[in-house]
Amino acid sequence: MRLAATARRLRRIGPFPLLVLTIALLIGAAAFRASETAGLAALGDTGRHRLDLYAASLEREIDKYAFFPATLELERDVLDLASGRPAPAAEVNRFLERLNQRTGTLAIYVMNAQGRVVASSNWNRPDSFIGEDLFYRPYFIAAAAGRPGRFYGIGTTRNEPGYFLSSTLTDDGEIVGVAVVKVSLEQLERSWATVEAPVLVVDENGVAILASVPSWRYSTLRPLDGAERQRLERTLQYNARPLPPLGLSPVRRVSDDAELVRLPAEARSEADAASPFAISGLVLAQSAPLHGTPWTLTVLSPVAPVTAMAWAHAALSAVGSALIGMLALLWRQHRRHLRALRHANDALERKVEERTRHLRAAQGELVHAGKLAVIGQMSAGLAHELNQPLAALRTLSGNTVKFLQRGKLDAAQENLDRIGQLVDRMGALTGELKRFARKSTGAPQPVATGRVIANALFLLDARVTRSTVAVTVEAADDAVALCDANRLEQVLVNLLTNALDALTGTKGTGGAMTGGGAAPAITVTAARHGARVRIAVADTGPGLSDAARDRLFEPFFTTKDAAKDGAKDGTDRAEGETGGGLGLGLAISAGIVRDFGGTLTGTNGPDGGALFTIDLPAAPDSGPDPVTDTPNRADA
Ligand code: ADP
Repeated sequence: MRLAATARRLRRIGPFPLLVLTIALLIGAAAFRASETAGLAALGDTGRHRLDLYAASLEREIDKYAFFPATLELERDVLDLASGRPAPAAEVNRFLERLNQRTGTLAIYVMNAQGRVVASSNWNRPDSFIGEDLFYRPYFIAAAAGRPGRFYGIGTTRNEPGYFLSSTLTDDGEIVGVAVVKVSLEQLERSWATVEAPVLVVDENGVAILASVPSWRYSTLRPLDGAERQRLERTLQYNARPLPPLGLSPVRRVSDDAELVRLPAEARSEADAASPFAISGLVLAQSAPLHGTPWTLTVLSPVAPVTAMAWAHAALSAVGSALIGMLALLWRQHRRHLRALRHANDALERKVEERTRHLRAAQGELVHAGKLAVIGQMSAGLAHELNQPLAALRTLSGNTVKFLQRGKLDAAQENLDRIGQLVDRMGALTGELKRFARKSTGAPQPVATGRVIANALFLLDARVTRSTVAVTVEAADDAVALCDANRLEQVLVNLLTNALDALTGTKGTGGAMTGGGAAPAITVTAARHGARVRIAVADTGPGLSDAARDRLFEPFFTTKDAAKDGAKDGTDRAEGETGGGLGLGLAISAGIVRDFGGTLTGTNGPDGGALFTIDLPAAPDSGPDPVTDTPNRADA
């Protein structure tokens, strides 16, 4: 289950984070490699520099004594003593002792041609070399063969390590003996205590004879085989020291003169505690031969700082590249989202355009349908209005005939007058119907809004009279709007009808309604405000509910009953005066006002009750005379 969830999550995230992570790791690895290579190269340079420095100081130290044994050849007594001729041996000994003291060497001694010590600076010490046979010592063998002898060894008598420098003593071209000076290199070794990297000198046998880490001394860089060990025991070169291997294991060669080696932790001992080089682990080993000796100087530079630096670089590069990768990823995602949003937006716009087109078409149809609906309402109203006068006409005409037959001409005259009045009234009503159905005349004209309000109220006169609603009109003379009088009248009729509906309680809730108990009243005002004319229709009805306010101008939104009986409250209301609400009135009205370049808004007045405002462009002051009456009025 958990596995499946993880797989799902991974799929959602996609392969890119994994890719970024992999690339970051690869970059980290590359950075590690590069940093390590550069670090090792720098370490190698430093090592080489140190190597030169240490070798030079060691060579200088050795050279100081190199010429020394040869100068003894200048002493006649020394030559005599060596060649076995009578000579003041005691004086030679004292001379050598003084010389040794002055030069600060360990010992100076003279051997005859057979390798026996005949005079020595330590003549008066119990462990004096005098009389010792040292023919087996390599430095004697070399010098006896006419070559300068160089030998590092541990003295057999005093177990004291030293560097033996020997030189042939010749008398008249004949080799009569060998002069030897034994030098301590400890002084030098002590000065190494301050060097910055461990350094050791390995002799021709691969044995460390000098080392800045004390425990490394007399250990071997490479294991000795049996034959070699036997030879060393024979020459007593290291005076029977165990010569353990140092345990360096090669890791890899970095350059021609540098090799990475691992130093075991056990290579350290108590004695090393004093040494500044508490090193173990990876070191860079660099070696160079010491001139004039068969020895090799080796510098071991710890690699740990290079490795640490390489890790730091690797971590930095990996984290840095991961960050960059993540940013790139975020950017990519951001762009993708933007693209998706743009697509969605485009689609939405297309939809809105299409919808707008449909709505425009629908609106056109609705305007027409709305008109038909209003005509329907009016026809019903007219039928009702006409029925009464027709019935009256019938009665009157019947009576008039009777009056004429009886010769009551006055009464007939009176009846005929009443018939004329009734016919006039019916003509006015049919005129209204014609007027309402008439299409707009087109171009906007200056219209005196006060007059249009009066016309609209005239249309609703019968209903207003029947109700208890008080209607007040306050129209300013300069409230002249640029519009179409007929259509503005339609709008006003609609607003007034709604107000009457609200005040006479035809919202399907029953009972007459007024907000806060105020007397039922409608106030219509028209005034000019700069370049606009504002007509307000306010009533004292219950006002607009929140739901109604939001959807007021939505076609087919109505809170009125669909049924056409209307008079649920039993009040005397003419059939069809409101009818069932179609919910088209305000939608159509808003469309008409919009056509004039105006707005229609509906809200609740400060004292409750609905307040509808028509805002229209005002007619220019110097325009043609305003239309003070709708053209149809003449037809009425
Ligand atoms: P209809 O009159 O056919 O319902 P309208 O578009 O004219 O359609 O009105 C929509 C709705 O707005 C009405 O049903 C009514 O709820 C609300 N309304 C309009 N005028 C008023 C008003 N003066 N007072 C309270 N509510 C109103």
